[in-house]
Amino acid sequence: EEATPSNFIRNLIDEDRRLGKWSGRVETRFPPEPNGYLHYGHAKSICLNFGLAEAYGGACHMRFDDTNPTKEEQEYVDAIIEAVQWLGFDWQQHLYFASDYFDKMYAMAEHLITVGKAYVDSLSAEEMRAYRGTLSAPGKDSPYRNRSVTENLELFQRMKAGEFPDGTHILRARIDMASPNINLRDPAIYRIRHATHHRTGDRWCVYPMYTFAHPIEDALEDVTHSICTLEFEDQRPFYEWLLESLADGGFFQRPVPRQIEFARLNLTYVVLSKRKLIQLVEEKHVEGWDDPRLPTLIGARRRGFTREGFRMFAERIGVSKADSWIDMSVLEDCMREHLNEAAERRVAVLDPLKLIITNYPEGHTERCHAPNHPLHPELGKREMPFSRELWIEREDFMETPVKGYHRLYPGNMARLRYGFVVKCTGCEKDADGNITAVLCEYLPDSKSGTPGADTYKVKGNLHWVSVAHAYTAEVRLYDRLFAHAYPGNRREGDPEGLERDFVEDINPDSLRVITAQLEPALRAARPEARFQFERHGYFVADRIDTRDGAPVFNRTVTLRDAWKK
Ligand code: ATP
Ligand code: MG
Ligand code: MG
Repeated sequence: EEATPSNFIRNLIDEDRRLGKWSGRVETRFPPEPNGYLHYGHAKSICLNFGLAEAYGGACHMRFDDTNPTKEEQEYVDAIIEAVQWLGFDWQQHLYFASDYFDKMYAMAEHLITVGKAYVDSLSAEEMRAYRGTLSAPGKDSPYRNRSVTENLELFQRMKAGEFPDGTHILRARIDMASPNINLRDPAIYRIRHATHHRTGDRWCVYPMYTFAHPIEDALEDVTHSICTLEFEDQRPFYEWLLESLADGGFFQRPVPRQIEFARLNLTYVVLSKRKLIQLVEEKHVEGWDDPRLPTLIGARRRGFTREGFRMFAERIGVSKADSWIDMSVLEDCMREHLNEAAERRVAVLDPLKLIITNYPEGHTERCHAPNHPLHPELGKREMPFSRELWIEREDFMETPVKGYHRLYPGNMARLRYGFVVKCTGCEKDADGNITAVLCEYLPDSKSGTPGADTYKVKGNLHWVSVAHAYTAEVRLYDRLFAHAYPGNRREGDPEGLERDFVEDINPDSLRVITAQLEPALRAARPEARFQFERHGYFVADRIDTRDGAPVFNRTVTLRDAWKK
């Protein structure tokens, strides 16, 4: 196991602890908006926040940032809870909903009005934009900026009472319209929105803006370190302004929570924006939110990715202050590494061709023994029936071998792994010349595990499944969803430098459904049982489509990276 790399966030936390801030306490949160399914990027944030809490003996809060009534649903709340639990993290009693704080947030907004730090503006959205100015030009004060406290309080109460339609008034913080930071030019903090909320129903028709709500949520929960992605860096001055203002008003103890930003995960060969994920689902480029090709966590689970793999990935990529791209192979390698350790071995023939052992007695079956895990002899062995007709991979026979080919071709010997050495004698063909069976003779004294078996020195070592005993099953060969590293974006190596629709970069071979011949032990696989199919890769029994005694398998990842350039 690699040591946990120290990173800049840990350094900041260590420094806070050294100074005795928050008495050394470390409390973080994972704050999704319940408006979609979690993706691999969220996994980075989850592992980071829960990981820091674990490392410092603190807690990480599971908080639903449900301040936007029109986009949020209970379905997403449930799916997010399931996904975080699947990653193996525990928030103990710390499950929170921002909507539970609406009364408190409203009171805090009123307080800001009372102390002259907020006012009701009645400009149209368009006018507000014009008044805000630009990066190079300062903004202008709204004509409503100097309304009296009494008038502001009354208007805000009437907003809450439902007297005004959406967009007619808005509550803004009064900070500085000339600030070089546009986020400090009197940001909106409360808006009118006549909409039913998935938890508070029709109780409210004014809702706090995210930038107002989020710091308050952190402070109300006594979060110490509020870790977010880089795009919120420019919001940090407002975060601090707001919490200091409310601490002045006696709402919070100091020190207030501290915001720290890190670079979000960008991963090649996928898209991680909710908007694009929704498009992939709605346009049916994938089969649903849990399609194993989609970078959602429910998709990952169905694909056979593991929580251990995600945690290893999060450790390995670390956190930084600079945006960068991580190659998909880093994530896949983490899954391989964990599965190599955790998955038992089984045999599967994915492209079956019949092998007939002409000198083996017809109707006879004998037992061969295969280790369940080469790294874990304590996991024992299983029986594999051996008989006269076996399935082998089509690519394990060549009538006319190419140079360096060591598998079956007329006159050559190879070992049937865990079984016998066979000598190829020829093949059978149909009328069109297609090979329908390979013929061979076995060497009865060559059985694996018997004395003298290793006197035969052969280079080919093939896997096989007895035809009479095979479990014939559907196997889905999943591959990367996009054939291009930066979907929709030609950045590097693009002669034309064109941006194009990311959908055009979908890999046409991202799914191949085949009928495979599997060793009989696989018939008993339970949903989500994971295996290495020898020589092929890692596979999982699909958690949705697997029936008792009739599992269907998904390829999680191949044994080796076939995408390396
Ligand atoms: P999107 O922008 O796709 O809508 P989001 O960032 O708005 O996603 P939230 O539900 O608000 O999604 O995210 C919850 C947490 O996950 C936030 O703290 C956010 O910073 C973090 N997060 C989201 N995407 C990534 C990513 N790609 N890498 C790291 N953290 C992320
Ligand atoms: Mg968000
Ligand atoms: Mg976002």
